[in-house]
Amino acid sequence: MRPDAKIRFIVRHSDEFDIVAIGAGPAGATASYLLARWGYRVALVERTRSRRGLAESLPPSATRAFQRFGLGDVLRSRHVLEATGNTSWWDSHECRPEVFKAPGHQIHRPGFDAALASRARQSGVVMKAGTAIKRVKAGQDEAEIEWRSDTGRAGLWRARFVLDCSGRAGVIARRGFRRSPVYHTQALIGLWRARDRFAVPDCADDTHTFVESYAGGWAWSVPISPRVRTVALMTSARATTYSGELSRAPHHGALVAGAMLSGRPWTTDASVYDSSRYAHGPVLLVGDAGSFIDPLSSFGVKKAIMSAWRAAIVVNTVLRDHEAAGEARSYFDEAERDVFDSALRQSRSFFSGAAGFHGSAFWHARVAAVDAALGDAARDEHDKKDEELLRSDPRAAQALRLLKSGASVEFRPGAGVRFDSVVEPDGRTLVRRNAIATDALKRPVRYVAGVELPRLVGLAPRYRQVPDLFEAYNRAAAPVHLHDFLGALSVLIARGALTQRVQT
Ligand SMILES: Cc1cc2nc3c(=O)[nH]c(=O)nc-3n(C[C@H](O)[C@H](O)[C@H](O)COP(=O)(O)OP(=O)(O)OC[C@H]3O[C@@H](n4cnc5c(N)ncnc54)[C@H](O)[C@@H]3O)c2cc1C
Repeated sequence: MRPDAKIRFIVRHSDEFDIVAIGAGPAGATASYLLARWGYRVALVERTRSRRGLAESLPPSATRAFQRFGLGDVLRSRHVLEATGNTSWWDSHECRPEVFKAPGHQIHRPGFDAALASRARQSGVVMKAGTAIKRVKAGQDEAEIEWRSDTGRAGLWRARFVLDCSGRAGVIARRGFRRSPVYHTQALIGLWRARDRFAVPDCADDTHTFVESYAGGWAWSVPISPRVRTVALMTSARATTYSGELSRAPHHGALVAGAMLSGRPWTTDASVYDSSRYAHGPVLLVGDAGSFIDPLSSFGVKKAIMSAWRAAIVVNTVLRDHEAAGEARSYFDEAERDVFDSALRQSRSFFSGAAGFHGSAFWHARVAAVDAALGDAARDEHDKKDEELLRSDPRAAQALRLLKSGASVEFRPGAGVRFDSVVEPDGRTLVRRNAIATDALKRPVRYVAGVELPRLVGLAPRYRQVPDLFEAYNRAAAPVHLHDFLGALSVLIARGALTQRVQT
């Protein structure tokens, strides 16, 4: 990985690109936008010209990601509504509102996707709408991409990278990478219009997403405006009607009482799946093309744009330094797998809450399906993400109590831990950085709660008072909160990376 290596552009003919991205959803539009801004010749191909679409919720943390990529203005477009929180009736009959500290967003996907694609075009991406990719032939370092437009034109392109951002369609993903769904979900979706306003309960406000579990599924509603909302019912049953399913979700039934269905409800597949690999030769599976997480998380769009960002960094790293290709692909594979596994674990905790409340076969089957996908270690410590594993160590809690006691402490580097390295993004490329390794961890870890562990191990022996160490750390690294700092320090002590001697 040579950060100083120069980009070698080999732009040849009009049908040759550095990168072709298949699909102009959030993943394809974001990846192609970033790569075009970084100077590459990029084509973005979208098979549809317009489509009926869902309203979807974005958590507040997605805002930071859009802003970081220079796309914050897309969240201010007229297809977006600010949300103050969400309200659920999940594992109880009680209305449980969650108020966000910073605004989240409700996006109407057709307009939102068009706004993102337009930003990609403005950054220099060659966009082809109404054009489907029919076939991709991938070699070691190059791919041939066959396209056909809805006006009957067809052509063949060559690219040094091809990003499959085609979502569930999985143009390349389905050619041997996509695994069978972990469980099946169908979404039945209706668009509702209220004459005045919806019957929003007193515990919530009308910008909220509503989520409600019932014995055979869950209901979910997102506003497009105070007078228009989608209400979706997620279930595994096949032969069911929209109104029949809605009658099982009393809080959503009450919400739309007096409102009118606009057009006919429609169904879409929302089954959860992943891939055996996410990077292969010049192909990366990005966003939903690689894996689909439960919509319950409201995290799919953020996951897609983060995956697009990682893909752009991997492409840029490999095109600058071909020797880094193997490491860069492994980085992408691992990162995509981690995101999927951690979403599965999060879903499991929601599913088991609903299973406890309803006691129904539907929810018990979901818990069992997730356990089978995660393996026997699903509830076991060994399957936790390394950072979670470190933080949940009971010895860390003991060390934390001591640190909080205010005693003067002498720190020494411990013997239980080795210094190793990890590959991580730095700006537009991947670099190797110091990390901490122990026998208990699957991989070296560089951060816990945003605190850089190797730096903290280096600084700690120079200070006797924890507040002085905290200040010194925040001067030397990106500042963190005291709570996170103490958490990371106690993890290092618990794992033997630092030994402490309390001085009375
Ligand atoms: C019912 C439901 C509710 C959801 N709710 C939420 C939510 O509240 N919040 C959230 O964050 N996420 C939600 N999601 C998930 C979210 O929709 C996806 O995670 C997100 O769209 C992924 O973006 P993407 O760009 O990877 O894929 P997509 O958005 O699916 O984009 C793929 C694009 O590829 C195009 N394409 C496909 N085949 C071809 C081809 N052969 N040639 C050219 N183009 C092609 C498609 O037309 C499409 O435009 C929900 C999903 C479902 C199903």
